[in-house]
Amino acid sequence: MKVERWIKEGLRCFDGATGTMLIQLGLKAGECPEMVSEEVMMKVHKAYIDAGSQYITTNTFGANRPKLAKFKLDDEVAKINRRNAGVARKTAVGRGVLIAVDIGPTGELIEPYGDYTREMFIDIFSEQAKVLAESAVDLIIIETMTSIEELEASIHAVKSVTSLPVIATMTFDKDAQGRYRTMMGVTPEMGVRVMEEKAVDACGANCSLSPSDMIDLVREFRKLTHLPLIFQPNAGKPKMVDDKTVYEPIPDLEKSISQIIAAGADIVGGCCGTDPEYIHVLRHILYNDSSR
Ligand SMILES: [Zn+2]
Repeated sequence: MKVERWIKEGLRCFDGATGTMLIQLGLKAGECPEMVSEEVMMKVHKAYIDAGSQYITTNTFGANRPKLAKFKLDDEVAKINRRNAGVARKTAVGRGVLIAVDIGPTGELIEPYGDYTREMFIDIFSEQAKVLAESAVDLIIIETMTSIEELEASIHAVKSVTSLPVIATMTFDKDAQGRYRTMMGVTPEMGVRVMEEKAVDACGANCSLSPSDMIDLVREFRKLTHLPLIFQPNAGKPKMVDDKTVYEPIPDLEKSISQIIAAGADIVGGCCGTDPEYIHVLRHILYNDSSR
């Protein structure tokens, strides 16, 4: 019920991207995003707080065992999660913002498509969630899920190690007919069913879609559930310019965000390509939203 209370108190503005901000600040391809210096990470958190974010997300999206193993850091799961949650906490001191600890997908597939079992997924997510939950944070956000099995296992694992509020979001694409599906073929209805069964505190979608492409998805979610809703769109489609990924300014940003809110989103933030400037715009719209 805590998330509902926060929303009633007006805490509705999440933060923007971490990954694309870290790239702007010098993170190179092939480097582990969770290993950037404390100074760089604080810069990102601080920029979002200054822009008006009421929640900041820890730099722990890929800090699970299989993802860290790709950087030969699989023995450092506890250390990295503890450090990065601590950096967010330290930046937030005295600023009145909530700390959301971030859990992303493993990048692995569950059987029969891959080698992982539900039990293995549960172990991986509990290992990460346990450390994060012990780090004086306010909530857990599970993001960018595309597989229904991994979604279920991650929520199950998190809830088995902590009673902190849990937000879960999946990432959807929109096809030519306007239907929303995750990369693994999951519909919003299937996703919402699992999230309700698992009793998350809020649900929604993040990444992949631009703000304008997300509006109908918000409407679909609103029809499917009474749970609080959170949406974090990307800053449009990325383009490659001189070997660099560039997100161009979003046309009609204010209009699209207003429509996302009107369609029923309770909390809004941003995913890949969004920056403090985007949060500034978002905060302004949320502040002037007197519809609730
Ligand atoms: Zn993203």
